[in-house]
Amino acid sequence: MFEEIFSPVQKIAFTPFSNLYVKRDDLIDPYISGNKWRKLKYILAKAKAKNKTHLVTFGGAYSNHLVATAAAASRSGLKSTAFVRGEEVKNEMLLLCHLFGMKLIFTDRESYRKKYQLFDIHFKNDDQAYFIDEGGASVEATFGCAEIIRELTETYEHIFCAAGTGTTAAGLLSGIQKQGLNTKLHIIPVLKGASFIQTEIAKYTTLSGHLKLHLDYHFGGYAKTTPELISFIKNFTAKTGVLLDPVYTAKMFYAIHDLTKQGIIGKEEKVLAIHTGGLMGLFGMMDKF
Ligand SMILES: *Cc1c(COP(=O)(O)O)cnc(C)c1O
Repeated sequence: MFEEIFSPVQKIAFTPFSNLYVKRDDLIDPYISGNKWRKLKYILAKAKAKNKTHLVTFGGAYSNHLVATAAAASRSGLKSTAFVRGEEVKNEMLLLCHLFGMKLIFTDRESYRKKYQLFDIHFKNDDQAYFIDEGGASVEATFGCAEIIRELTETYEHIFCAAGTGTTAAGLLSGIQKQGLNTKLHIIPVLKGASFIQTEIAKYTTLSGHLKLHLDYHFGGYAKTTPELISFIKNFTAKTGVLLDPVYTAKMFYAIHDLTKQGIIGKEEKVLAIHTGGLMGLFGMMDKF
């Protein structure tokens, strides 16, 4: 399932840009979406190499990673279990997880923090169980994300990506370094006060002048929006036909637009935005529109 992949680079017509391109990782798969597909690719390979048949992971109730893991497990003939942060709830994302056969264990926030302990308690006697960290954060995930860069057939002055944990960003940066490109990587953290991302990226690869963090496009924090962001999404999607989710990709495209308006990125410069998928993030945001 990780062989064939459809992720074209498309040129997008959106003022004021004349050279804005999008890497459509959102088209890879409807459920194993975007960077979650990239991240899971080598995690699953490792699990299989170790003869593990049961994927165990962690996430919030609206986690793209949980749906992706559940879908990937069911297609690979593996079992899956997730520890879901917080009290029991029902929503569209968890419905998909459930349909893909994932077992959901709702876990209070205190216990959820001790992930390794939770895993040990529940799976002490299950040598088939394979621990996958929240969001798939791991060195294997960075290998998969570095392949985004390897697939590019043209060079860009700037590449943009939204960040939660920063693992995808680390993979992109190592890809840029490995290919010896001169491209600048711009990271848009979607969490407030996300300077920790620098440390996270440094775990996997050497920091360099290729990297620029933009800490002011979080719109109040994780999964927070403003009327301005919502109206940006409507305008962008109506004009380009490309859907954005309010949690990740909308914040990235807003940042590209804003930095260009400010003249920090030149209108003529060649910019590539990584569309990391996550369109199910539109679920649960109905009342915002
Ligand atoms: C999970 C996710 C991200 C963040 O990826 P990290 O590797 O955690 O930084 C970005 N975009 C989308 C759509 C996601 O689902």
